[in-house]
Amino acid sequence: MVAAETLTAQKRIAMLGPPGAGKGTQAELLAGRLSIPRISTGDILRDAIAMGSQLGRQAGPIMEEGGLVPDDLLMGVIEERLQREDCARGYVLDGFPRTVPQAEGFESLNPGVTADMIVFKLEVPKTELLRRLSGRRWCPKCQATYHVESDPPREDGVCDRDGERLILREDDKESAVARRLTAYERQTKPLIEYYDDRSCLRRVDGDREPQVVHVELSTYIGVPR
Ligand code: AMP
Repeated sequence: MVAAETLTAQKRIAMLGPPGAGKGTQAELLAGRLSIPRISTGDILRDAIAMGSQLGRQAGPIMEEGGLVPDDLLMGVIEERLQREDCARGYVLDGFPRTVPQAEGFESLNPGVTADMIVFKLEVPKTELLRRLSGRRWCPKCQATYHVESDPPREDGVCDRDGERLILREDDKESAVARRLTAYERQTKPLIEYYDDRSCLRRVDGDREPQVVHVELSTYIGVPR
């Protein structure tokens, strides 16, 4: 049984879960439904790499290896992004926070935020995570993602939106995936307790069709379909 909850005027939602759990997909669906931005720190960093900025040069090698970018860099990124006007009514955080110091930094930027924030933890078995990540294909131009079996593009290997060739992200390759899963276990899992203690955490079975998961999340935030 799912209890409906209503967030205050500014909707602040975060997605937590291992790589491949569906954070990006669910964040996008929720953001669209609430007309607020989805903020993906992974996308921001990949854009920085594509632009060749100093942030991109610092983050690039770490991301390729499947590690986590240092907290101080991430806090600068998120602080700048949250100041933009489109965040005034709220946002869906996708991939942030990922460590306890990031969660603490986020709280000090937004005192009292955990009083009405919802953190969705998407739970998916490891075998399914690996299936999803190895079949994931990515558009380097618009950052759209597909899956070779469950969400293929109309034309094999080509992005529906802009015709760009799809690729397997460096960090979706097997060795990097193993490191990302380890980083999740070591650095991100402690956030479960952190948000549980603050009564923000909602555990959701992410091993279902994206639309089914979305309906559950929508019910939690008080906008049932
Ligand atoms: P994602 O697209 O969310 O899977 O993120 C891809 C990669 O970007 C991660 O494996 C990290 O290297 C980096 N990254 C994204 N968000 C964060 C974060 N909050 N803290 C540290 N590293 C991050």
